[in-house]
Amino acid sequence: MIKVFKNKCVGCGICKSVCREGIEIVDGIARIKNSGADCLKNAASACPQKAIKEIEQDLLFAVGTDDNETIKSNDHVGMSKYFQVWAYSEGELTFKEKRENAKYKEENERIHGDPGKAKATSSVLTGIDVLVGKMFGPNIVRLKNKFVCVVVREPEIKKVTEIIKENINEIAEEYDKKERVGIILK
Ligand code: SF4
Repeated sequence: MIKVFKNKCVGCGICKSVCREGIEIVDGIARIKNSGADCLKNAASACPQKAIKEIEQDLLFAVGTDDNETIKSNDHVGMSKYFQVWAYSEGELTFKEKRENAKYKEENERIHGDPGKAKATSSVLTGIDVLVGKMFGPNIVRLKNKFVCVVVREPEIKKVTEIIKENINEIAEEYDKKERVGIILK
């Protein structure tokens, strides 16, 4: 996955002149418009700021849900009955599996913010890079060390996957950070 690091980009447009098919400039910052464009590697080499880089690893997303259609909305994401696992690669999100939140009952008995609850949530999410929910509790402080925590307001999971794809650069940037703060999307 190739991405633009917005904090390094100065908007000079050199990358776009090298790769019009794959890059556009939006609000003075380069943005990948076609992640499949062959010229993206040339654009990365041409960037004087080294702002375009390839991220080797694809990302695995978990979306908390009770009904498999909509995102968990009436409680924290850790209280979801299921997690839908989606893989991001080459500009696409592909559904992989549904994981039952086996610790769901146990979690119900714990109070919000209990460190054991964050541990229980993490154990169901082995291998996950990004946790997506509508609400996060006080345990976001612990969870963000393990996952990029993404808040999405949109209820329908289908639309959530589109929002994730639109914002994949921002998510990948957060993934790289040592001190993650979480991301709020529409
Ligand atoms: S060449 Fe680099 S600094 Fe210039 S617009 Fe492109 S990404 Fe930004």
